[in-house]
This record gives sequence, structure tokens and C-alpha cells, in this order.
Amino acid sequence: MRGVDGLELSAKRAEYLKYIFNQGDVVRTTDISTHFSVAPSTVTKTLEDLARSGFVEHSPYHGVRISRRGREYARFLIRRHRLLALMLSRHGLSPDAACREARSFEWYVNKSVVDSICASLGHPVMSVCGPIEHDTCCCCPADR
Ligand SMILES: [Zn+2]
Ligand SMILES: [Zn+2]
Repeated sequence: MRGVDGLELSAKRAEYLKYIFNQGDVVRTTDISTHFSVAPSTVTKTLEDLARSGFVEHSPYHGVRISRRGREYARFLIRRHRLLALMLSRHGLSPDAACREARSFEWYVNKSVVDSICASLGHPVMSVCGPIEHDTCCCCPADR
């Protein structure tokens, strides 16, 4: 998957991207600054970085919407989190703890490792904190 392999956003930018992805439409700078409790000027700067890298597109009225590339990456972030949380729960952590602990290290796990974990868990469709997508999963076609 172009643009996903070997590419890593900082945790903060990734959180913004996931938030924008989950809103599903134009997101205003003020929505983000309220949600994350940060100054609008800081949000604007981060959004400019995300736009420059092609993850979001500016839209009128001081907002952004997610780009195709951003959507793919956000889906990867969610899939990675849920696979790692599921893996931890299989090792005895409670669902809450698994979800929380996955957040503390998921940023360091690259896509090929995520794909390996997906395969070793048997391409699961449900995690402790939500469904795991497989339509964008490039580890699965060989198994189908
Ligand atoms: Zn979770
Ligand atoms: Zn898979």
C-alpha cells in the first residue's frame, strides 16, 4: 500500500487524523482545538503539515477534510490499534487494559509487523474495542 509502508506520523498528528476520519466530513479548526484542548494556532500549524503531506485537504470556512491517502492511513491506524489490543487480550489482559496498553506502544509497530500479527491471530474480524477491517488488509489476499 503506497504511502503507508515506511511512513509514520507522530502520535499527535495521528490522533488528529483519526479524529478527522471519524467525523466523516469537513472538520473545523475550532472543533479540533476544542476536542484536544489545544490552541487554534497550534491546530492550524499541524493541519498545514498534514495538508502538505497529502493527508487532508483544506476546505472553505477554515476547515479540512480527509484525503484518500489520509483515509487509508487512518484505517491502518485503527486496524493496528485493534490488532495489538486483541493480541494483548489473548495474553491475559482485560479488554480495558489491553486497549490502554496498546495505545502506549502502537506507534512503534510498522505495517509488516501488524500484518504478521494479523496472520498469526488468524485474520480476526473483532477486537476488544471494535471490528477489525480486512478489505484494506494486504496480508489477507494470499489466504483467500
Ligand atoms: Zn482499543
Ligand atoms: Zn489479515
